[in-house]
Amino acid sequence: MKLPLSNTEKILNALVVFLRSLFSKLVIVNEEVLDKAELIIEKQEEKAKDIAFPEPTKKSFLICPIQGMDINGKPLTSCTVRVSSILDHSGTAIDPGSKNRWGKNAKNQKVKAFNGEIGDGEPSAEVPYGYTKKTLAPFFSSNEINYVGAAGNGDKYGPTYYLNYDGHAGYDFSYPKLTSIVAPASGQLRKAAPGDDLTYGANWNTDHSFYIKHDNGYITWFRHCEKLNDDIETQILGDFSKECFVEKGKVIAYVGKVGTGSVHLHFEVLDDRKIIVDPYEKQLWEA
Ligand SMILES: [Zn+2]
Repeated sequence: MKLPLSNTEKILNALVVFLRSLFSKLVIVNEEVLDKAELIIEKQEEKAKDIAFPEPTKKSFLICPIQGMDINGKPLTSCTVRVSSILDHSGTAIDPGSKNRWGKNAKNQKVKAFNGEIGDGEPSAEVPYGYTKKTLAPFFSSNEINYVGAAGNGDKYGPTYYLNYDGHAGYDFSYPKLTSIVAPASGQLRKAAPGDDLTYGANWNTDHSFYIKHDNGYITWFRHCEKLNDDIETQILGDFSKECFVEKGKVIAYVGKVGTGSVHLHFEVLDDRKIIVDPYEKQLWEA
C-alpha cells in the first residue's frame, strides 16, 4: 500500500527532479564546451602545422644549358659557366611595361646585378655599354658566378672591371663555336617565328632564336646558335608552328654568332606571365 507522501518528502522529490534536470543540462553544456574546445584545438593544431611544416615549394628546375667541363674537370654548372654579360636589373630589362627593353631607349648609364653590385662608373669602349664600379674593382669577386666579362677593344681595365651590359635582358655564356647547348629542362621546343620575341624582335631567320616551353609555365630563350641539332632541325625545318619535345639534358643546338658580333649563347628565362626573370636571383638553377 502506498502511503501518502509527507511534505518533506515532496520537497525532497522535487529537489531531486530539479537537480537531475540541472545535471543533464550541465552535461549538455559541458559537451558543447568540449566540442568547441576541441574545434579550437584542432584549428590551432592546423595552424601550427602550417607554420611548422610548410609545403616544400621546389623552385629550382634548370640545369646549365652549356655542356662542358669546368677547370676542375667537373660538368659545368650555373656557378662555373663563363658569364660574359648579366641581366641588367637597373631598369627596362625587367620592366614588363617597357616596350623597348634594351638599346638606346633603355640606357640609364647603369647596370645592376642580382647580388646588388652596380656598374655606374666609366663606360666600356664599345656599345652596348658596360660600366665600371665607381670605386674601381672587379665584379663578382665573391665567386657567386664565374663572371669573365666581355672583352672590349680599348677597355682600360680587365673585362671583369666592366659589368655588361646596359638594358641586357638575359645572360651571355661565352663559349667557342659549336659548343653543345643542352635543354635546361624538358619541354616543347620551337623556332621563334616573327613576332614571338617581345624583347628583341629577333626570330629564327634573323637571330637563330628558339625557345622551350616548360611544364611549369616557364619559357627559356636561346639566341645566336650556329644550328639546331639535326634531328630537331629535320622535324621543324621552316614550319614555325611545329614543336618538338626535348628531354632535359638533350643536346638541342650549338653555340654560334648568328645576329651578333661575338660567339656566345644568349640565354633568357621568362615566367608564366612571359615576364623576364633572373634565374640567379630567383634561384631557378638546380646547381
Ligand atoms: Zn645577350
